[in-house]
Parts: sequence; structure tokens; C-alpha cells
Amino acid sequence: MNFSDLVEKLTAVVGEEFVHTAPEALRTYDCDALTIYKGTPGAVVIPGSTEEIRQIARLCHEAKVPLIARGAGTCLSGGATPAPGGVLLVTMRMNRILEIDYENLIARVQPGVINLHLSNETRPHGFHYAPDPSSQMACTIGGNAAENSGGAHCLKYGMTTNHIQAMTVVLSNGEILHLGSDGDEAPGLDLRGIFVGSEGTFALMTELTVRLTPNPEGVRTMLTTFASVGDACQTVSDVIAAGAVPAAMELMDRYTVEAIEKVMTRDLKRGNTS
Ligand SMILES: Cc1cc2nc3c(=O)[nH]c(=O)nc-3n(C[C@H](O)[C@H](O)[C@H](O)COP(=O)(O)OP(=O)(O)OC[C@H]3O[C@@H](n4cnc5c(N)ncnc54)[C@H](O)[C@@H]3O)c2cc1C
Repeated sequence: MNFSDLVEKLTAVVGEEFVHTAPEALRTYDCDALTIYKGTPGAVVIPGSTEEIRQIARLCHEAKVPLIARGAGTCLSGGATPAPGGVLLVTMRMNRILEIDYENLIARVQPGVINLHLSNETRPHGFHYAPDPSSQMACTIGGNAAENSGGAHCLKYGMTTNHIQAMTVVLSNGEILHLGSDGDEAPGLDLRGIFVGSEGTFALMTELTVRLTPNPEGVRTMLTTFASVGDACQTVSDVIAAGAVPAAMELMDRYTVEAIEKVMTRDLKRGNTS
């Protein structure tokens, strides 16, 4: 199968509207947030379901054309950089929260759900999705799982891998696997950890069941100054060794503190106290 036959078949799977081959459209996908590496894909496909992803994977496999997944493209390690001339599969249409089960503290989501959107939905009910990369207002839960992303609160709550209960994945030949279980431990080998953090190299994640965490009863923020970085790091170890694991700890150097104070002083003068 040559590339134009492949594009024709991909179009039959997802519809004309969701296959891009025009050079100006392809250019918008030629890198992720690691902008020093670029590669123009031969086609961009935007599927709407696991079944469509299965067919896309099978077709690319048959045509021996590289297939790369992309969520929001915020990756800083070039994972979503397209293979030149290959197919880039973008999960932006698969952005639905399929089910929230507060009794079992889980949510079933499509891979293109924006990280923060899930917590925005569940927080008023007393729960949130704990992994919080700083890009959480833009990045997707599928991308987070592929990168095993973490954020400030992962010190206490663990990285993404600790919050994936189950997942549906499509292998490169189009085979569909269900890993983990929505209930307690699934029988057999627990293969989730192999796929989480694999940067899309093992499979395309098409559905994820993630754990929900109760909101904290209260939040207190403390700021302390230290004479040296060594003292600050030792204090982190001491606090944890004392048995109190804070939800988050950030170390800021003098320049960062001064920059923040400058912005805060400016905002206060303008009357912006939020
Ligand atoms: C300002 C900024 C702040 C950031 N802060 C953090 C941070 O605090 N912590 C952190 O860990 N990262 C951080 N990142 C990096 C990035 O946001 C994370 O790696 C994030 O998880 C990527 O999600 P994404 O949806 O953008 O994925 P993409 O960038 O689109 O893709 C990332 C990888 O996942 C693969 N992938 C995407 N979707 C799927 C899927 N459905 N199935 C299989 N593979 C898939 C891609 O092929 C690629 O290898 C930051 C980035 C920016 C720009």
C-alpha cells in the first residue's frame, strides 16, 4: 500500500474532516513543546473512538508507516515529535469523561480529557485527580499516562502510575488489550506499569480508569527562608522523617522569590488581590 492509498483508507475510517494532509495544516503539528526537534508528518488523523484507533493502527502496520500519538503536545521530551512522513494520531476529539463513580472513587475517561477538567468536575463533590503537572490546564490524561507525569502534589500522592486503575490500549498491529480492572486487583500479571511511562512506544491508550482522591480537609501554606540550599534540602528530609508528608514542597531560589514578590507588589498596587 502506498501513502496515498493509506490516506484514502484512513479517511474512510475517520471521515474527511478528520484527516489533514495540507502542508499548512501539517506544519501546526511538526513539534511538541520541545521545539528544537521538528518532523513534518505525512498525515494527521483525529479519531473519535477505540475502534477507529484500532483500524488506524492496523492500516499503518500493514503499510509499514510509523504511527505516533499526540495529546495536547505539551511534552518537553519530544515524545510527540512526528516521524517525518509518518502518521500523527491526535486524541483531541476523545475528550469525554465517560463515567464518575464516587462510591468506588474512580473515573473512566477518554485519553484526550484535559487533566484539570477532571478535577474541575469532581472537586465540588469532594474529590480530585491528584497528579498535577504544571501544564495541567492544557495536557491530557493520555499524555500524562504515557509520560508518567507528576507535579508538586505527587510528593504526597504519587505519580500518574499510582492513579491508573485500568486502561484500554491498542497495540501497533491493532490488537486491543484491557489492563487492570475497575474493581480490586485483576487476576494475572499486572502489566499497567509497563505501559505507563512508555511514551506511546508500546501502545495507544484509548480509555483510562483513574483513581479519585478526597479533597484535603484544610490547606495551610508555609514559607520559610534558609541560608543555603543544603539547609533547605536537609529540612525536607527532616520533615518527612518526622512523619509529616506535606502535600507539596517547592524550593525557590532568591531570584525566583524576588521575581514573584515584584509581580505580587505590582498586582497589589493595581488592586488585583486574587
Ligand atoms: C509549561 C509546562 C509545564 C510542564 N510541567 C510538567 C510537570 O510539572 N510535570 C511533568 O511531568 N510534565 C510537565 N510538562 C510536560 C508535559 O506537560 C507532560 O509530559 C504531559 O503529560 C504531556 O501531556 P500531553 O497531553 O501534552 O501529551 P503530548 O505532549 O501530546 O504527548 C506526550 C507523549 O505521550 C504520548 N501519548 C499521548 N497520548 C497518548 C495516548 N493516548 N496513548 C499513548 N501515548 C500517548 C505521545 O506519543 C508522547 O510520547 C510540562 C510542560 C509544559 C509545556
